[in-house]
Amino acid sequence: MLKKVLIANRGEIAVRIIRACAEMRIRSVAIYTEPDRYALHVKRADESYSLGEDPLAGYLDPLRIVNLAIETGCDAIHPGYGFLSENQEFARLCEEKGITFVGPASSVIHRMGDKTQARDSMRAAGVPITPGSEGNLANIDEALSLANEIGYPVMVKATSGGGGRGIRRCDTPEELKTQYPRVISEATKAFGSAEVFMEKCIVNPRHIEVQILADSQGNVVHLFERDCSIQRRNQKLIEIAPSPQITPEQRQYIGNLAVKAAQAVGYENAGTVEFLLTGNEVYFMEMNTRVQVEHTITEQITGVDIVREQLRIAAGLPLSYRQDDIQLRGFALQFRINAEDPKNDFLPSFGRISHYYAPGGPGVRVDTAIYTGYEIPPYYDSMCLKLVVWALTWEEVIARGQRALDDMRLHGIKTTASYYQQILNHPDFIGAEFDTSFVPTYPELLNYSEKRHPSEVALAIAAAIAAHAGW
Ligand code: ADP
Ligand code: ADP
Ligand code: MG
Repeated sequence: MLKKVLIANRGEIAVRIIRACAEMRIRSVAIYTEPDRYALHVKRADESYSLGEDPLAGYLDPLRIVNLAIETGCDAIHPGYGFLSENQEFARLCEEKGITFVGPASSVIHRMGDKTQARDSMRAAGVPITPGSEGNLANIDEALSLANEIGYPVMVKATSGGGGRGIRRCDTPEELKTQYPRVISEATKAFGSAEVFMEKCIVNPRHIEVQILADSQGNVVHLFERDCSIQRRNQKLIEIAPSPQITPEQRQYIGNLAVKAAQAVGYENAGTVEFLLTGNEVYFMEMNTRVQVEHTITEQITGVDIVREQLRIAAGLPLSYRQDDIQLRGFALQFRINAEDPKNDFLPSFGRISHYYAPGGPGVRVDTAIYTGYEIPPYYDSMCLKLVVWALTWEEVIARGQRALDDMRLHGIKTTASYYQQILNHPDFIGAEFDTSFVPTYPELLNYSEKRHPSEVALAIAAAIAAHAGW
């Protein structure tokens, strides 16, 4: 087994990995930059090392991180998600220096991280892909003629994109002409690559993705699917496992497709194969070669500890499960509680958390790195907490989600929590009939009034009295 693991990440996922290490009696090493000095992952790890003043540079410095892992006697690095998790140079450096990278081989990251190469691999393996360009687009003329061929609407997408950025829908040639250079500049800024490609826009699809696990002995299993159709601007807000809106036949078909996709590229470790579904059509969209934000809900319905499996696989151990051992039980929902103001176009709302009370009770799980008094730094992701609920039936899991959201107190910043209550109350959600157009289709769900907790009201009154009295 691994003895000591460096976690090349921050926030809730760093804490999640530290917890898995602790349960496996593996020593954990955290890294941080100065704005994160008081972050939970720093306190919780067995050892922590500062990588300088700059908020981001330290987390994005492959050589420095790998050297630190060697100096501190680590045998492996877990990259989490975001940051360097899908950086093939980082994985390659680990391979070169004899540090185990908790993830697939650098060559596989390279192949799947490039969305056009991934499409090529899937086409070759007989996995259906979204209709679109073969390779990257050379220029706007090629884009225009291809769009004519496949038919509008089309999507222009950044080849190295991620996190919902660098994707634009174009309904007419005019729109394509204006959006094309925008995607290029967005891609260059966000991903350091100007490469873009085109896909047919699947109108109002469902986003269904399959969690897979693959060991170094060539065993591959899937842990069923997640429905991530509740999105705003191509970013996931609420995730559901299993999908309440596919048939058992579709479930089996798509699970097998994901296994086939993983086998085709010699995949190792945990990964996710993302698909778009419309009617009876299923299209491969992309593969994420890392642990995903929403791995939690799969853990709740299968009982498999995905991070633990990742560490076991990295240590060269075989999977703990065969396909037949993996059973579905109940439903799980994950709410990404973001420090954002839904009423103000989801604008980030950073600041100090004046009061935090964690929801609890049966079937409730919270993955977070925040605490009362914590100041959310403006440099990173706005997601500050993952609230996960589990129950045996769809009706029960919705009720439990409402109850848990109600339980939670998170003051000092604006969050997406109350907006999620509105979604849970909507007949389309309750009736399990929704697709990726849900959020833009129902803007009226943003017209809720924020419920204020008595303690907040008391504070506001006290402040008003104090101001009046000239204190
Ligand atoms: P998931 O696929 O696990 O749901 P997200 O798409 O929400 O994850 O991304 C998780 C985190 O990783 C976010 O902070 C996102 O901005 C970041 N991220 C994802 N892909 C990339 C990428 N290609 N380049 C940079 N950051 C990325
Ligand atoms: P990222 O790497 O940022 O996660 P994806 O390729 O996974 O990008 O796409 C993110 C989201 O954008 C999808 O979940 C879906 O809602 C939307 N999307 C992407 N491609 C298409 C498409 N061809 N047709 C319709 N929607 C799409
Ligand atoms: Mg995606």
